[in-house]
Amino acid sequence: MNETKKRKIQSLRGMNDILPGEAEFWNLFEEVVRDTLASYGYRPLRTPIVEATPLFSRAIGEVTDIVEKEMYSFIDSLNGEALTLRPEGTAGCVRAVIEHNLLAAGQRLYYMGPMFRHERPQKGRYRQFHQVGVESFGFAGPEIDAELILLCARLWDDLGLDGIELQINSLGQPEERAKHRAELIAWFERHAAALDEDAKRRLYTNPLRILDSKNPDLREIIASAPKLIDHLGAESRAHFDGVQQILSDMGLPFSVNPGLVRGLDYYNLTVFEWVTDRLGAQGTVCAGGRYDGLVESLGGRPTPACGFALGVERLLELVRAAGGEPQPMFPEVYLVHQGAAARRLAFRVAEGLRDGALDVMLDCAGGSFKAQMKRADASGARYAVIIGDDEAAAGEVTLKFLREEGVEQRRVAVDELADDLMGRILDSKEEE
Ligand code: ATP
Ligand code: MG
Repeated sequence: MNETKKRKIQSLRGMNDILPGEAEFWNLFEEVVRDTLASYGYRPLRTPIVEATPLFSRAIGEVTDIVEKEMYSFIDSLNGEALTLRPEGTAGCVRAVIEHNLLAAGQRLYYMGPMFRHERPQKGRYRQFHQVGVESFGFAGPEIDAELILLCARLWDDLGLDGIELQINSLGQPEERAKHRAELIAWFERHAAALDEDAKRRLYTNPLRILDSKNPDLREIIASAPKLIDHLGAESRAHFDGVQQILSDMGLPFSVNPGLVRGLDYYNLTVFEWVTDRLGAQGTVCAGGRYDGLVESLGGRPTPACGFALGVERLLELVRAAGGEPQPMFPEVYLVHQGAAARRLAFRVAEGLRDGALDVMLDCAGGSFKAQMKRADASGARYAVIIGDDEAAAGEVTLKFLREEGVEQRRVAVDELADDLMGRILDSKEEE
């Protein structure tokens, strides 16, 4: 064999395997998310991971971090189509609701899955990461904005998390942004010498994005730049007040952060982020807002919309820090067998126990009883069920207690095994 064939192939930088132990933790997280979302009437949607590149450049905006430098784009070598691994889920979701005419009545939807961005990998920032996205269509008033925010708060609670703070802002409407934009350009022109390359490039294409810069050197100029919130007209103000009123009514603390602009182009009116100081630099765990113009700009009939996306890795990090360590999952029973008749009975017993809602791991590696018992111990199971020629001939099994000191093993009739085990498991749960 030549050298290149033998070299180990490894996972890509910033793209992680989620191994058993960790993956159960993810499943649990996803269950909580589904339950919480169902309690608000949100329904699941699954869209493809690959979409046509123009979908993202149109939806997210050409002059954004994502479209300028973070997308995994490639040409399909078979037909020359420009394709992109989805960097976020809203664009695909909107494409799907337009394509399948889901916009007639109001829609409340959610999805979860991997997203791809070519960023510098670091804690809380990966190239393949996961989002839960929640989107609503057809609701123009502040109620849905507030509902989405309350839903987040309930989810943090259901996950056992605290210390995640809510920041909100209003980006107004495009006309209001245009006035602000002119002032913003004038302001940054006056401070042109202090701007970095990104900011200079965006000064005339998308100055609002400068406010979103992560460069600490720009912090001061950004903090004292003209505020969009001072340019809101009466309607935008009323919408923003409406959202705040519901949140206050519901006793949900928040702060208005006039510097909050989102990294994507499609937002208007309400924007919000949930931020924690427990994750270092990558402190935003959830971000969203209203995007009333997007459906129309992607070819659908004008439809108000509002949604958010949360970062699964960052939230799981918080759950872990809060002591929600993943619980390893063990089978209840490990089934040991030797000989042809025993093997046939073993399969029948294993399926029978599973019918009775027990988790059973059947030995498939063979070898001596001793070797199989070693594996039974290592499996974490509480009981070993042993079947040899003797047992097979008698229609019985030997039940061995792997976690209880001083309890003698005993023979149990096959027909009574499931009840016997279930009784023991229920008893031990009561004792706990
Ligand atoms: P950031 O400012 O951290 O780059 P963003 O504005 O690009 O975030 P959004 O597009 O709003 O992020 O995505 C919503 C959420 O998804 C973020 O708040 C974050 O929790 C998570 N997220 C975004 N990019 C990554 C990434 N590369 N790795 C892990 N999580 C991410
Ligand atoms: Mg980003």
